[in-house]
Amino acid sequence: MTILDRMDARIELSNEERMLLDSVRLLCQNSIAPRAEHYDRTAEFPWEHVKAINEIGLNAMFVPEAYGGARMSYTAYLACVREISKACAATGIIWATNYHSMKPLIDWGNEEQKQRLLPRIAEGGLGALAITEPGAGSDATGMRTTFREDDDHIVINGGKTFITNGDVADLYLLFGKWEGIANAKDSISVLILEKGTPGLSVVRLEDKMGTRASSTATLAFDNCRVPRANLLGQPGDGLKILFASLNKSRPSVAAHALGIARAAFEDSVAYINERKQSGKRILEFQGIQFMVADLVAELALAESYLWHLGRLVDSGETDFGTEASMLKMRASDLAMRASTDAVQMLGGYGYCKDYRVERLMRDAKITQIWEGTNQVHRQLIGRSFLQR
Ligand SMILES: Cc1cc2nc3c(=O)[nH]c(=O)nc-3n(C[C@H](O)[C@H](O)[C@H](O)COP(=O)(O)OP(=O)(O)OC[C@H]3O[C@@H](n4cnc5c(N)ncnc54)[C@H](O)[C@@H]3O)c2cc1C
Repeated sequence: MTILDRMDARIELSNEERMLLDSVRLLCQNSIAPRAEHYDRTAEFPWEHVKAINEIGLNAMFVPEAYGGARMSYTAYLACVREISKACAATGIIWATNYHSMKPLIDWGNEEQKQRLLPRIAEGGLGALAITEPGAGSDATGMRTTFREDDDHIVINGGKTFITNGDVADLYLLFGKWEGIANAKDSISVLILEKGTPGLSVVRLEDKMGTRASSTATLAFDNCRVPRANLLGQPGDGLKILFASLNKSRPSVAAHALGIARAAFEDSVAYINERKQSGKRILEFQGIQFMVADLVAELALAESYLWHLGRLVDSGETDFGTEASMLKMRASDLAMRASTDAVQMLGGYGYCKDYRVERLMRDAKITQIWEGTNQVHRQLIGRSFLQR
């Protein structure tokens, strides 16, 4: 048993959660990992994977029982994200986006909204989180999508870009600015947009470097009418909801990155235990042992911090924004480093598509960019020490 296996065995999970994680592992080994190469090559949306995940009812683990779910701990959720992402990073982010987009509805929605909308997600519906616009990336407050009140409806105009699950989602958590509130930041509001709403259209899908099977859509809203009953909180509550939600999705994005890092590490260690040059296994060379030592130490520390944040959230802590930034930043930098080093350790074979590490290196890059670029996270972490 390696040090990393021992760490996995010590993740604090209940028996029921451990059993679920075991069935996710089995699903990943038998169904998801073997098809990941196909979906990366074709960039087809992996419906087979979504169906398989829904057959074990995985969305239910983050939806409260009152709304059709069977909620488990945040730690268990993070462990599942990491496991699926290790098998197929595209599938990992498709599934995690359900959580990222619907957790704000769970935390901020009223009883009627939750009764009406959440069972769809618990049963396996897909969610999308729509914040980014062409002119509003790192600074989301520059968004220009508008929400106009019209009797008991809200009329949406504008567009969003780079929206994961944007063409396949059943429910969208959509951010925009409330017309009539003068201050730009105070006007940010959030609502649930349902699939098939007239005026909602998919303008384009991205052809990406990595996570190719997850869809990334540009959306347009042309006088989309949504019942006012779909507004989360009050007009102007958007920024508060956005920050609280990002704090919980960033550890999840870190779990995704650590799944990629772990896959890269395991693949390279397996290879260098077999491959021989100059009559020795590659892992017998000291220069390579140093690379492995540095990587496994980083992995062990980043994974420990992932479970630490899981426990913090499970204990009810709400003030963990800086910790979430540190974890997201280090986990995603590690995913890039571990996958790049894996390609290096496999030599020329690592650069070719016959080995998974080539895909892992492409999949890793996005983790440094989304959910706040790592430059933005460094700024947030540094700024937290500014004395008032
Ligand atoms: C595959 C993919 C999936 C995505 N999924 C979603 C999704 O589901 N929902 C969603 O809303 N968005 C999504 N995004 C958008 C993603 O969150 C943004 O791409 C990201 O926030 C960066 O914004 P930008 O691309 O406009 O880059 P910019 O903000 O234009 O940044 C360009 C560069 O400038 C740097 N920079 C910007 N501001 C600062 C600063 N203050 N200090 C230092 N450097 C700075 C950045 O770090 C970056 O290196 C996705 C993007 C991709 C590519």
